[in-house]
Amino acid sequence: MRSTFMKASMIAMAATLLLGIIPVEVSKCLQSEGLRRWQIHDMSRPQPPLVAPGEASTQDKPGQPPSDAVELFNGKDLSQWQGAKGEPAPWKVGNGYIEVVPKTGDIYTKQAFGDCQVHVEWASPEWAGDTFDPGNSGVFLAALYEVQIIDSVHSKIYADGQAAAMYGQYPPLVNVCRAPGLWQTYDVVFHDARFDKDGKVLRPAIITVFFNGVLVQDHVELTGPTAHHQRPPYQAHPAKMPLRLQEHNYKVRFRNIWIRELGEGS
Ligand code: MG
Repeated sequence: MRSTFMKASMIAMAATLLLGIIPVEVSKCLQSEGLRRWQIHDMSRPQPPLVAPGEASTQDKPGQPPSDAVELFNGKDLSQWQGAKGEPAPWKVGNGYIEVVPKTGDIYTKQAFGDCQVHVEWASPEWAGDTFDPGNSGVFLAALYEVQIIDSVHSKIYADGQAAAMYGQYPPLVNVCRAPGLWQTYDVVFHDARFDKDGKVLRPAIITVFFNGVLVQDHVELTGPTAHHQRPPYQAHPAKMPLRLQEHNYKVRFRNIWIRELGEGS
């Protein structure tokens, strides 16, 4: 009995030691690498960088991003955006907002980003009686993975096409959509897929989404790019890709769009 206990203890101890030095897999959380690098309460471990917090938006006024964010819309012009072929972004700029111009195509950030935190505010146009996909648009992380935008107060579309769905893959956990005309927020944490040099997937993309402050996608693993009526497999793509906003015939508005690229931490 005693020797069985000792054997088990030794195995547990050996496993603990090994876990400390051997990367078990491509980590899903880069921050956890710090546990391997530093002893507990190590005074030489770097302090976190200082970042001034942003300011929350109200319905009347867009807030302020945190000080280390890249602002993707300054309230005035589309200088950070372009069309699919690199042409000037063909959407409209109103008083502090961007508005989709139907039939002009999606727009893409000029800058490319890797793993990131993204904040987007959007508002559906006035409801015109359509119950399938009123106010359809979307935010594509890495230009490939769509967080759906739709008027989920009125839409009776399939669950994995409602607002804050990972389109065609995961419905949101709850429907917290506001009425058309009101500003709504998406706060997204996105860890892109990792590929080896031959294009094999080492790790799928992982996403967490808060919709109007409520958790709706809880660290879900994407099956690949999002698409209509299909779940295409991953295809290797660059580590940095643009953010993309979808034109889907509806005059959806956007404001206060910002992004923070995620580092490893210490
Ligand atoms: Mg859409």
